Amino acid sequence: MSAEHPRALLARWGLRPKKRYGQNFLMDSAAARRIARLSVRSAGDRVVEIGAGTGALTYALLAEGAAVTAIEIDPQLAALLRSREDLRGAEVVEADALGFDFAAWARGAPWQAAGNLPYNVATPLVLRFCEMRDGPQTVTAMVQKDVADRLAARPGTAAYGSLSVAVAYAMEVHREFTLGPQSFYPQPKVRSTVVRMVRHDRPPVRPHDLELFWKVVRGAFAYRRKTLANSLVLALGLNRAGIERALADCKLSPEIRGERLDLDDFARLADALAEG
Ligand code: SAM
Repeated sequence: MSAEHPRALLARWGLRPKKRYGQNFLMDSAAARRIARLSVRSAGDRVVEIGAGTGALTYALLAEGAAVTAIEIDPQLAALLRSREDLRGAEVVEADALGFDFAAWARGAPWQAAGNLPYNVATPLVLRFCEMRDGPQTVTAMVQKDVADRLAARPGTAAYGSLSVAVAYAMEVHREFTLGPQSFYPQPKVRSTVVRMVRHDRPPVRPHDLELFWKVVRGAFAYRRKTLANSLVLALGLNRAGIERALADCKLSPEIRGERLDLDDFARLADALAEG
């Protein structure tokens, strides 16, 4: 058995896709099954689906045996989801995922997150998941390819930035597969990539002063065209001599740019700056 197609469902309900909610519905049921298989490790897993839309992924997650909570901001789509007999097993919550209290919902038990994320929600939501103490163990997300590039970027590449560092600190990122615009209705302008992020048991680095560490990371990317030292002076108002001393302590060139530093370099630099 397969679910009714999103386009047919929308037509039956007299609905049109809403741009403001980033509604590009997944028309490819095989891709939905692939995302569901990546999201559910074993039957009974608790999965929060972000932006359930017409339920293509919700259906696939239920078929994998997940206990699904489907969050949807659009009241008309929340009503559509609740009306679907084949989604009876899912709990539908009409809410803005950016304001949703995941910790209260999870009550300390492990959970996973999944979704075909709307463009304006993807980055703030992934960052929130990374920063949450009892955040999801895995996040399987369809995002615009350029967002996937930034999430998974390695040092020294154009896409590498503070988002990449924040994600690397909390999660291991795997790029899974990419879909063209024809897999969606309406068709977006760009390709979409599924990334799977798996939370580290413990962060790979342990800087002494975590607040300073994040300041240094953000400061390093504040002026991408400048050297790291210049960017830190301008962004954080730090003393240049102190920065140069700290760079030397870390065996980093005084001319190095922020985008060259990996997590470990940032941690060592933050520690050297704290001592200096
Ligand atoms: N999961 C469906 C699919 O794959 O066909 C829909 C994906 S569509 C790209 C994004 C969905 O997220 C839309 O249904 C939209 O209404 C919903 N949405 C947008 N912003 C949201 C938010 N802040 N919180 C919850 N849902 C949101």
